[in-house]
Amino acid sequence: MIEKKIGSLSIWVFENLSRYEELGHFVSTRMGGLSSSPYDSLNLSFNVRDDPEKVLENRKLLAETLGIPLTSLTTAKQIHKGNIKIVSEELRGRGSIDYKGAINATDAMVTNVPNICLMILLADCVPILFYDSSKRVIGIAHAGWRGTLQFVAQKTVKALREEFGCLPQDIVIGIGPSIGPCCYQVGQEILSQVEDVFGTKQDFIRNESEDGKGYFDLWRANLEHLLQAGIPENNIEVAKVCTSHHPDLFFSYRHKKGKTGRFGASIVIW
Ligand SMILES: [Zn+2]
Repeated sequence: MIEKKIGSLSIWVFENLSRYEELGHFVSTRMGGLSSSPYDSLNLSFNVRDDPEKVLENRKLLAETLGIPLTSLTTAKQIHKGNIKIVSEELRGRGSIDYKGAINATDAMVTNVPNICLMILLADCVPILFYDSSKRVIGIAHAGWRGTLQFVAQKTVKALREEFGCLPQDIVIGIGPSIGPCCYQVGQEILSQVEDVFGTKQDFIRNESEDGKGYFDLWRANLEHLLQAGIPENNIEVAKVCTSHHPDLFFSYRHKKGKTGRFGASIVIW
């Protein structure tokens, strides 16, 4: 990924997705906003007990800085499952200015409608951005451990194929900043689910200790699911940036023990 300073903000973009002129996308950081601690400062979530007026100001600042109409930001109530929503014109702007308007119970969104800025909110979960330039279709998914093990990445590819006729070889993907295998220690319950899903813990769990804990590699797990779905490895850019390792740059739920804000990841066809 590449870091870009735009106005007072620091925005990260994928190299592979930056090649397309008709496409906009970003991953925001926590710097340059108005929220106070522990949400300092560019918290974009209305659902973490931050002052909603400050969150709205942060979203306006972000939209203005990036030249995106605020009302095109489209968000969902994320529930850590694997629900996919096909976003139609009528859903444009849902959740752009408050939480209650966000699309219900959804962890991934796909659309072929221009000017709908699909945005997910994050603090350690994995953002996965999808683009098929031949069919002009975008997608975005939010994969924590639950979403990962419920195949949210593969389900998003399935939706792109079934709803829009996308071919896996045409889908270009970015896996963004999120908690890495360096920091994401998990317990026995998750370890055994990883083994159930992949048939092995090897490659996905690092440094397993005798008391049954280990470090879950969400990047590798989602990459594996995407490869299994037929996406060529060359189409996938993995940021390999750990949010918990960079708590000054990104919000990290684990590092801040739950009391923190959310940064955004977004994609739009102009
Ligand atoms: Zn780390």
